[in-house]
Amino acid sequence: MIIDERMSAFIDSLDSGNPAWLNEIEKFALETQVPIIRRSMQSLLKFLLKFTKPKSILEVGTAIGFSALLMSEYAPEDCHITTIEKYEKRIPIAKENFRKAGREDRITLLEGDATEILRELEGTYDVIFMDAAKGQYIHFLPDILRLLPPGGLLISDNVLQDGDIIESRFAVTRRNRTIHARMREYLYELKHHPELETVILPVGDGVTLSTKKEESTVTQNK
Ligand code: SAH
Ligand code: MG
Repeated sequence: MIIDERMSAFIDSLDSGNPAWLNEIEKFALETQVPIIRRSMQSLLKFLLKFTKPKSILEVGTAIGFSALLMSEYAPEDCHITTIEKYEKRIPIAKENFRKAGREDRITLLEGDATEILRELEGTYDVIFMDAAKGQYIHFLPDILRLLPPGGLLISDNVLQDGDIIESRFAVTRRNRTIHARMREYLYELKHHPELETVILPVGDGVTLSTKKEESTVTQNK
């Protein structure tokens, strides 16, 4: 927890919540240790989707489809969501959840490793939600930038590594050291890339919001 637990509980307690069918999927995920977005992140996503009204969303990291379904609930009805997942055990559960919710025509699940799938995607997505393996974000970035239109929004989850990000690399466990280095590099890139404007928020497990600048402003701000 990167912010005070009581503060987080207080903020969450004010939320008006989600429909019962979404609560059920959330409950199942929590019971079966599927790492889904936290309440504070749900609330932020809901706000951002109401505010930006995207026509297309790309998600990296479907798990069992909870966040994709949450986004389909709060994005405009004609918004299409494309979501990528590589873990064979989670894919059928996600598909079944999309079917049960009657959202199969609004959500496309691409099965496989995002490293390869992102390379092959064409066109652009108004909103991109990055929620896969933290150590890979930096490698996905070139494709993400190509798939994000000027004015588009990139949301990245879990960027503060449960608070570890501020520790020295020697203070984090060996297992987390590679992620630590790559996440610091990712945050640096997002904050210094000439095409992006990024804010880092201590929401949930740490979130970044990045927007791609309109072409005319890129050179001026370099
Ligand atoms: N967004 C989901 C949670 C995603 S958990 C929700 O909030 O409901 C992260 C998921 O990313 C895991 O299921 C994992 O299998 C998947 N993942 C990690 N690296 C990936 C990659 N390179 N390609 C595709 N999926 C990946
Ligand atoms: Mg996450």
